[in-house]
Amino acid sequence: MTASSFDQLATSILDGKPATEDDALAVLRAHDDELMDVVAAASRLRREHFGNTVKVNYLVNLKSGLCPENCNYCSQALGSTADILKYKWLSTEEALEQAAAGLKGGATRVCMVSSGRGPTHKDVERVADMVGTIKAEHPEVEVCACLGLLKEGQAERLREAGVDAYNHNINTAESHHDQIVQTHTYADRVDTVGKAQSAGLSACSGLIAGLGESDEQLVEALFALRDLGSESIPVNFLMPFDGTPFENTWHLTPAKCVRILAMARFVCPDREIRIAGGREMHLRSLQGLALQVANSLFLGDYLTSEGQAAEADLELIRDHGFVVLGSPEDVSDVARRDPAKRRRGAGTALAPNA
Ligand code: SF4
Repeated sequence: MTASSFDQLATSILDGKPATEDDALAVLRAHDDELMDVVAAASRLRREHFGNTVKVNYLVNLKSGLCPENCNYCSQALGSTADILKYKWLSTEEALEQAAAGLKGGATRVCMVSSGRGPTHKDVERVADMVGTIKAEHPEVEVCACLGLLKEGQAERLREAGVDAYNHNINTAESHHDQIVQTHTYADRVDTVGKAQSAGLSACSGLIAGLGESDEQLVEALFALRDLGSESIPVNFLMPFDGTPFENTWHLTPAKCVRILAMARFVCPDREIRIAGGREMHLRSLQGLALQVANSLFLGDYLTSEGQAAEADLELIRDHGFVVLGSPEDVSDVARRDPAKRRRGAGTALAPNA
């Protein structure tokens, strides 16, 4: 495609003609020197649907590690020897304290996550209690639960307790799924997304890029998410933890990550496209460019890895002329810093910082 073809694609999508699989592949396979053309075209769709806002989400890991499932990408999985934090359920007070920190930092959605195949009924009641407590103190907050595969009636109970959304990622294309996990099926995952939707929960389902999938499989996953009706689409980039089957797996470049996010925007122009785990590691200095096509991110740390400081995330948003969704923030209200005065290198006894 040429610069004008990406722009024409955006125009045609804005006119109501959805992107085709060939369009999506062309975006993924654009050359690095076409990156700005891809971003400029995709950002027209982003701004049409989300203006200059960025949705800020905050993760609370309610139970970490010790999972019986074998998702090969996951540091919490059965067989993983990754050196991560492992703990059983947080108390309601601890969950509230963690959620409050994210809300204070600017988040409007709290994502309450637990490791495991799926919750017991007791677990659902525990989370229902946490959600009730959080919503009593912060009635404006949106709560998303992510507890694994759901059994009959559990989504309804969560909805009744005040949960707004349920996250369950399809993670990869159906045609690639069995290469990355064997303890549950792609159909199991789709079933849980359907249960959440039937109970009136907003579906949050996304993917992980960098699992050895082909470009065609990335496109397959995005079209599946579109057809599933996922309203928020977290796009994770594999963080290859030592001690997992994917250790030392590096398939992504920062420009490729931006193209993946842009492809998601072309395929699902009006859905929340969230830059999720692996943002700092894989996008590196292109995080700001990525916000031109994506409209959502996680603030601060991830489930088992550290993210950049929450203040750096907010600065990233402000520096690129965006505002946090739901905040009255004025972009002109920029943080000011004194210049750091040089005290090293030439003219000093200290080594330069080069
Ligand atoms: S992704 Fe979830 S289900 Fe899979 S191993 Fe990790 S915690 Fe367990």
